Amino acid sequence: MPNDSFDATAPHPRQDEFSFDVGTRLTRPDGSVSNGRTGVITTPHGQIKTPAFIAVGTKATVKALLPESVADLGAQAVLANAYHLYLQPGADILDTAGGLGKFMNWSGPTFTDSGGFQVMSLGSGFKKVIDMKSVDQSGPDDAVAPGKERLANVDDDGVWFKSHIDGNKHRFSPEVSMNVQHKIGADIMFAFDELTTLQNSRGYQVESLERTRLWAERCVAEHFNLTDARVGKDYQALFGVIQGAQYEDLRRQACRDLGAMAFDGFGIGGALEKENLGTIVGWCAEELPENKPRHLLGISEPDDLFTAIENGADTFDCVSPTRVARNSAFYTPHGRFNLSGQRYKTDFTPLSEECDCYTCQHYTRAYIHHLFKAKELLSHTLISIHNERFVVKMVDDARAAIEDGTFHELKERVHSRYYAGAPDPQGLKTVSA
Ligand SMILES: [Zn+2]
Repeated sequence: MPNDSFDATAPHPRQDEFSFDVGTRLTRPDGSVSNGRTGVITTPHGQIKTPAFIAVGTKATVKALLPESVADLGAQAVLANAYHLYLQPGADILDTAGGLGKFMNWSGPTFTDSGGFQVMSLGSGFKKVIDMKSVDQSGPDDAVAPGKERLANVDDDGVWFKSHIDGNKHRFSPEVSMNVQHKIGADIMFAFDELTTLQNSRGYQVESLERTRLWAERCVAEHFNLTDARVGKDYQALFGVIQGAQYEDLRRQACRDLGAMAFDGFGIGGALEKENLGTIVGWCAEELPENKPRHLLGISEPDDLFTAIENGADTFDCVSPTRVARNSAFYTPHGRFNLSGQRYKTDFTPLSEECDCYTCQHYTRAYIHHLFKAKELLSHTLISIHNERFVVKMVDDARAAIEDGTFHELKERVHSRYYAGAPDPQGLKTVSA
C-alpha cells in the first residue's frame, strides 16, 4: 500500500525512456479535426507505428505461429496475459529467462494485460463479459452466469480467485499485479482494475470505479518502487485502465482521475456495446492527455477497428484472428467464410487473391480444407498467418490512409465489400473442376 505522502501525479524520471509522438491528425469529411491520429510509440524494444493491431500471445505464444512468422506478417508487438503466465509457468521463470521477449524469442515490443479481466471474468462476469449485447440490470450485481461456479471474489484490497487450472486459491491485488508484470518484463503493462459488466447497476459501477481509481494510485506507487528496486532492467511503461461502462459521466470522470496520474498511456476497458464503441472511445479521447497512447482492449472486427481509430484509439488487440482460424474461419475483403465447406474441396485459389501473406503466396484453399478435414495441425498455422495478416494490414492501411487523407474513402470501401453479405465470390471457376 502506498504511504499517505505518495503523489500518483508526480512523474518518475525514467518515464522519458518511453514516448509517444503524435503524427498526422485525422480530419472529418467536413474538414474538422477529429480525435483520430497516427503516431509512434517508442519502447526499449523498438517502435510501434500507430494505429496498430497488436497480436495476442496469451501464454507467451501467438497460437500455432512461430515468432518469426508473427514478425514476417507485419505484427509490430505481442500482448501476453499476466494472469495466465503467473499461473503457468510462473512469473519467476520469465524473470530468470530475461523477460517475456527473450523467453518467447520475440525481439519487438511486448505488452501484458494486468490479469484483471481474467480474474474478474471468473466471478460475476464469468461467461457474461464475452457476450455483452444487452443492458439487463434486473438481476443482482453479484449474479453468476447460469451453471457456473463463482471463482473470484472482489474486495477493496484485491481479489481472491481460484485457478482455472487446478482450483488452488490465489490473491491478486494492485501490488501483486505490478510485481508479476515487472517480473514478466513486458514493455507496456496495464494497471490492475475491476472489470464490471453491463448487467451491473449504476450504483455498483460508481462503487467499482472508485475502487479502480484507488487501485490505480497503488499501481503507480508500486510500479515506481519496482522501477527503482529492479536496477539494470529496461523501463516498463504503465497504462491506466479506464472503466465506467456505458455512462458518459463515469467514463469522463475516470479519464480525468487517471489522466492526472503519472501513467505512460491508457487502456480503454470494460463493458462496451458495439453501437456505443465510437462514442465511448470519443469521450475518452477528449478527456485523456493527447500526448499519451490509448489502447482499446479486445476488438478486431473491421467496422469496430475503423470506428475506434476514427475516434482516437491508437492500438488494439484481440484473440479472434487465431481463435477463429482454429475453427477454419478465414477473413477476406468480402467477409469471413468457413473453409470447412465442401465447395473448398476443389478450390485451388489462395485464401484471398488480394492477400500478400505467406499462406496465400504458397497454399490453396483446397489444400488447407484437406488439412482441416484431416485434423492436421498445419491448418491452424496457415489460416492463423493469413487472419493475423488480414487484420494487421487493415490497420496499417488505415494508418496510411490517415496520412494521405483518404481514411473515409478506405473505410467506405472496406465496409461496402466486407459487409455486403454476398457469397464468397472467389474460386467459383474452380468449384466444378
Ligand atoms: Zn493471406
